[in-house]
Amino acid sequence: MSSHTFRCANCGAPLQSGDGDGVHVRCRYCRAENVLSRSIGAGDDPATKGRRLQLAAVEAQALAKRNEERSAALMAEFEALSLAAHQGDREAAEEAVVLMEGYLRLQYAPTVHMYTSYDPTDPAVVQAMQQIDAAVHQALAAVRESFGLPPR
Ligand SMILES: [Zn+2]
Repeated sequence: MSSHTFRCANCGAPLQSGDGDGVHVRCRYCRAENVLSRSIGAGDDPATKGRRLQLAAVEAQALAKRNEERSAALMAEFEALSLAAHQGDREAAEEAVVLMEGYLRLQYAPTVHMYTSYDPTDPAVVQAMQQIDAAVHQALAAVRESFGLPPR
């Protein structure tokens, strides 16, 4: 098994191995069912990776389109919970943070899909994924702070 993090095929969020039976994992952010398999890409020649990237670019567009509705729903739910969160409801605040992560992950999903279709084990891809994770975590830290939640 390679050392890279498995990501949700729908939204690109890192998958927690505890969220399923080890083979089937349900994404905790967008609730998509994922089937884990050995990583694609490692050892493929550049031409093969290039063709996969071309296909992934088309899929990424479809993914962005498909995620629009879910994205809007997450934002609406987030805004509703924010009102309660700002009135001191900590449970609502924690839930709102998870919704915001789901929303942010969906925004990055087409990009993540393209990168990981190329080769999820490529060092440049691993680094790009880490940068996306860092950006998401930074945004969430700001949201937590705005709700008066302790940092994670
Ligand atoms: Zn997901």
